[in-house]
Amino acid sequence: MDIYVDNAATTAMSDTALAAMLPCFQQDYGNPSSLHSPGQRAAEKLAEARSIFARGLHARPEEITFTSGGSEADNQALRSAAALGARKGKRHIVSTKFEHHAILHTLQALEKEGFQVTLLDIPTDGVVTAEAVAAAIRPDTCLVTVMFANNEIGTVQPIPEIGGLCREKGVLFHTDAVQAAGHLPIDVTAMDIDLLSLSAHKFHGPKGVGVLYARKGVPLVNVIYGGAQERGKRAGTENIPGICGAAAAFDEACAHMEENAVRLTALRDKLIAGLMAIPHTVLNGDAVRRLPGNVNVCFEGIEGESLLLKLDERGIAASSGSACTSGSLDPSHVLLALGRPHEVAHGSLRLSLSSYNTTEEVDYILEVLPGIVAYLRDISPVWDELETGRRPHLI
Ligand SMILES: *Cc1c(COP(=O)(O)O)cnc(C)c1O
Repeated sequence: MDIYVDNAATTAMSDTALAAMLPCFQQDYGNPSSLHSPGQRAAEKLAEARSIFARGLHARPEEITFTSGGSEADNQALRSAAALGARKGKRHIVSTKFEHHAILHTLQALEKEGFQVTLLDIPTDGVVTAEAVAAAIRPDTCLVTVMFANNEIGTVQPIPEIGGLCREKGVLFHTDAVQAAGHLPIDVTAMDIDLLSLSAHKFHGPKGVGVLYARKGVPLVNVIYGGAQERGKRAGTENIPGICGAAAAFDEACAHMEENAVRLTALRDKLIAGLMAIPHTVLNGDAVRRLPGNVNVCFEGIEGESLLLKLDERGIAASSGSACTSGSLDPSHVLLALGRPHEVAHGSLRLSLSSYNTTEEVDYILEVLPGIVAYLRDISPVWDELETGRRPHLI
């Protein structure tokens, strides 16, 4: 059986998205900036895609900018808010310790340019409070950026509360909604969101397409300079195939959001219950306030990487949700922020479901996983120390 449960990393494209893209390659391949008919047909497709995103986010079409992905949208959002703040002498930014690296590394770059950054600690349930955000805001704060849902542990943040608070204090509010878009309802107006990023390949759209929503009156600065595309805020010939695929995938995800969420939540909770039956296992993040498709646990006494390899042998593609996979020996910054000790954080497993996953797949995972964990613990010297009492159990 081939099972893909790494949908927080990326998803398969939907048939609808692919069908929307295909005509853009060899038939309607015009450049939207061209005045001739093929160009104008492309311009119409671009406008239609923009209104689909505007509708889904409760925004206006002119507030939607297409980018090369979630990372670029995050970079541009932060740089725009920082530039606006700097003009008013405000150079302080509030964020959290468990943001995506597209946020954390942009903040580090801004620090080198003279900005001050406060990164909030993460409570053990993985949900940042509006009170903690309020306490960190200073008179010179120009931006609060808190992710909508975390990509490793799936916890959903109190976005409307944080948005309302920022609006009240006159501070711009950005949210990285890459994991939430297409999965949870988003209303930028009701939620008082000034800037928002999303990425198409996390909801069955193509890779290389992102959206930056910027509320009317919040000026964007360029990250990419060149032509006058995207009202001069993002140069480069528009990726029409990608943008059409992204819009089709978003429309489809929004149309089926409710039913997908109900079905995925049931699968998720079945997985969590099954995994928690394995001794010395802990769930990372709140059990309820989490994405419908996210499961993230730590098994004591094993290495996440060996677990992933064993799962892969059995046809299951999962993730440890940690930086180890990229060659670093540091455990996940998210799990450390959550307060997991290093040795526990190393034994993490993230199973991220999409609407393409089935009950049979979940049953198969629950059938093979306990045996793999038991096997790895059997051959682990650390587990031996834990079981013989030479080392205390931490979970
Ligand atoms: C995937 C992801 C990104 C990056 O998006 P890309 O389109 O891959 O650049 C940013 N933030 C979060 C939370 C993500 O999950």
